Amino acid sequence: MSDPVTKLSFWGVRGSTPTVDPATWRYGGNTPCLDLTAPDETQYILDCGTGLRMLGGRWSPPTSKNPETHIFVTHYHWDHIQGMPFFAPLYAESNEFHFYSFLSKHLVRDSLKQVFETQMATPYFPVNMSAMTARKKFMEVNGGESFTIGENRITARHLNHPQGCLGFRIETPGGIVAYATDNEPGDPKLDAELEELAAGADIFVNDAQYTPEQLEATRKGWGHSSWREGVKVARHAGAKTLVLFHHDPDSTDRMVDGLLRQARDEFDSVFAASEGMVITLGSSEGKLEAHMPVTRTALRREAQFRARVSGITEGGHAFEEETIVRDLAVQGALLSLAHCPRLQSELQVTMETPGADGNRTMRLRGYVVRIDADEAKGHSAVGVVFTE
Ligand SMILES: [Zn+2]
Ligand SMILES: [Zn+2]
Repeated sequence: MSDPVTKLSFWGVRGSTPTVDPATWRYGGNTPCLDLTAPDETQYILDCGTGLRMLGGRWSPPTSKNPETHIFVTHYHWDHIQGMPFFAPLYAESNEFHFYSFLSKHLVRDSLKQVFETQMATPYFPVNMSAMTARKKFMEVNGGESFTIGENRITARHLNHPQGCLGFRIETPGGIVAYATDNEPGDPKLDAELEELAAGADIFVNDAQYTPEQLEATRKGWGHSSWREGVKVARHAGAKTLVLFHHDPDSTDRMVDGLLRQARDEFDSVFAASEGMVITLGSSEGKLEAHMPVTRTALRREAQFRARVSGITEGGHAFEEETIVRDLAVQGALLSLAHCPRLQSELQVTMETPGADGNRTMRLRGYVVRIDADEAKGHSAVGVVFTE
């Protein structure tokens, strides 16, 4: 029998509004959408931001005894619902979706259904919701309860956010995922509920939109958090890995790199959510594995350059080694390394490249986007994107 693996994929990680600015492409510009497949093959989708459209292109119906997909919508702000009309599987009769969200005091009843209908009403969208022929059920969750779907236990709690927001905790036999986007610290009751959601979680996805300084000063009351607050909660709650999420649309990749670096100085296991990132839990080694998409790195040209590479290993130790660069493009390279660097860490790559007047030394800064550790002879194939 195979291990009970829980797989969490990130399709949209940007907060507030999508971005197409090239300075944000590395982490990605789509708004919140994740999908989680539990070991019993139950499918969950977390939020319906613009990332949902991308998921729709890859989606296939669940194969388990639970033929429906469960969609948890945290709240009704644009960035969490805007992908919904563009989710192709909703336009096929054979599919079934169960939606979960809270009753908004601004909407009287059937909150989520009403929100979706309004979003697609004339003159906002070319067809109305009746064009979505998939079976749809809408469930209201009030934020105090736990319930079971398949082999998995779901807990919902209210978070501190203007007009309300729900956080979800999904306990699967492969591990525990807590999803808490759009929350601002400072309300003692809701802070305690956030800690409950994150208690002992293997993955704690938390709002990290602002810098700690912004949160203190200009952004109080906007309903968001910072990496420092995430670290604090992760520590108190005993969460194992923190994922910084809901990046500000004005945060460039370099700025997110900086936030991640600071968070890693304070807490052992931190990632910055990145479009296309996949985290698996419950594999045979019992450890969490993270992967980044290779397609976004556009690795092309075959090359043979000698290079000296230095960086930080998975275990946090500095290393330096000589290697041959095999694939090189303007944006990045594929390196074969004896050391296993940390995903989303920086490598210094110094290369000798032939020029018209002899060899030239090129110093580049690479950001690790992919690691394939099981290459022959104990080497790792490491994909980097050049950041300058
Ligand atoms: Zn949001
Ligand atoms: Zn919001």
